[in-house]
Amino acid sequence: MNIPSDLDISRSTALEPLEDVAAQLSIGPHLLEPYGRNVAKISLEALDELPAEPTARYVVVSAITPTPLGEGKTTTTVGLGQALRHLGKRSAIAIRQPSMGPTFGIKGGAAGGGYSQVVPMEALNLHLTGDMHAVTAAHNMLAAMLDNHLHKGNALGIDPHRITWRRVLDVNDRDLRNIVTGLGGRVDGTPRQTGFDITAASEVMAVLALSTSLQDMRQRLGRIVVGYTRDGEPVTAEQLRAGGAMAVIMREAIKPNLMQTTENTPVLVHAGPFGNIAHGNSSVVADRIASRCADYLVTEAGFGADMGAERFFNIKCRTSGLRPDAAVLVATVRALKAHSGRYKVVAGKPLPAAMLAENPDDVRAGAANLRKQIDNIRLHGVSPVVAINAFPTDYHSEHEAIREIAEAEGARVAVSNHYVDGGKGAVELAEAVVAAAEEPSGFQLLYPDSADLRSKIETVATKVYGADGVSYLPAAARSLDAYEANGYGNLPVCIAKTHLSLSSDPTLLGAPTGWTLPVREVRASVGAGFIYPICGEMRTMPGLGSHPAAESIDIDEHGQITGLS
Ligand code: ADP
Ligand code: MG
Repeated sequence: MNIPSDLDISRSTALEPLEDVAAQLSIGPHLLEPYGRNVAKISLEALDELPAEPTARYVVVSAITPTPLGEGKTTTTVGLGQALRHLGKRSAIAIRQPSMGPTFGIKGGAAGGGYSQVVPMEALNLHLTGDMHAVTAAHNMLAAMLDNHLHKGNALGIDPHRITWRRVLDVNDRDLRNIVTGLGGRVDGTPRQTGFDITAASEVMAVLALSTSLQDMRQRLGRIVVGYTRDGEPVTAEQLRAGGAMAVIMREAIKPNLMQTTENTPVLVHAGPFGNIAHGNSSVVADRIASRCADYLVTEAGFGADMGAERFFNIKCRTSGLRPDAAVLVATVRALKAHSGRYKVVAGKPLPAAMLAENPDDVRAGAANLRKQIDNIRLHGVSPVVAINAFPTDYHSEHEAIREIAEAEGARVAVSNHYVDGGKGAVELAEAVVAAAEEPSGFQLLYPDSADLRSKIETVATKVYGADGVSYLPAAARSLDAYEANGYGNLPVCIAKTHLSLSSDPTLLGAPTGWTLPVREVRASVGAGFIYPICGEMRTMPGLGSHPAAESIDIDEHGQITGLS
């Protein structure tokens, strides 16, 4: 079946005035701050006006371990939110704001797809209300104040070799990964080696996502550690007296952005932290608002359930105090076939032709991954619902194979056709989610704050990833000891590993056993509020491919964008 392009579907949507979209959630027009016609910020006064206790059932959408193509979490999140309205529920959707790096790089836009999209997709994918730029500016303001401090005599005694704060930009630019700043003469600063990360990887972005209020954001920005003194003491943004200016730059960015779906369902788009070195979830503030004015709040967590959902539970819900009622696991025929180990799926390339033939045995051969990810949801006391995201190239027998695997595990399961049919295509899924969410929630954190950092890492590695244990390089062990000594031992952990495997080796598919998680290095995001052990290579500034998406994007004589997908 041929359906129009995402951009054409987005453009042909009859948009409702945002006042009407907000009215679905009983958010009055006085709480809306319009940015053009189709996006508005929601004033934080909403938090004072809305009921103190959440009214919504809280549903997180995660996935089995994905292929590099993505398995449709965003489309399913949108489709489910739409379908809940078909069941007469007041639903709200919360997603991350896409980074422009991937939009112009390899992945294309991140507004969902088909008839389950956030619209207008151009607005979502490009700039939106400038929150990304505010994060960039706040981050780089701190970098400038830090370098100025060195230039003006370094009263804090910062060790130039132990500065951890880099600069950020929302462009995939590999040539900025490693640079030298401060070249020139004496008046031009202090030369030192540093570099750029992508804005989504900024700790300021993670702060935006995890803050519970404006004041909480202000405090967290001040707690950011930028480096260490020659005696090994941490130096914070507060000590550089930068926290206030950063909060001022971020004062609009802290307000969630209201948009709508192709069926006019309200969507809060807010924050876009990286999914590997940060927790990869949309903001706590948006969820605090939406959970108080909807019957159902559906939110997406980045990557597979071992990554995004684990952080959703153990970092985001720990911070917000919100309790999830159900978790959707998006499964696709193509991902299960990929987990059979019989095919190789490459980002930016079409699927191997042989993978498109009807073959339920290949699907069954990939079952171990789905089983483990179901288990990972249950470890947190939450009911899993498997959503089979139907692609036009799938066969009924292949969907049945997924259904059998899920049912054998005792999980609810539904085929979802939201991509082609919008909300009505996801009604079976919505019914399963309602049934799961109406069961009493047994939500539990995987580890207490008080556990030491090594046991937190070991708990996630063995229980969620299926590792036998954890090994630490000497530098990692030293950092862990130093963080405990600095008083950061109570923070949760955000383990940076590949999203393409349950293990730390992207080539190991299914549910690998008999391996050890190697922790190479450990860093701290004290302001955001987590410690991140790094396992394997982690790129925090992507590069562009031979033919980046940017080459195909243009604007016509009517000012219409072309080529955005
Ligand atoms: P994720 O959020 O898991 O990365 P997305 O929802 O962004 O995934 O979807 C990834 C890509 O797959 C997008 O290009 C999307 O349009 C496409 N896609 C998702 N679901 C379907 C489907 N059911 N049929 C066809 N294409 C789909
Ligand atoms: Mg997504």
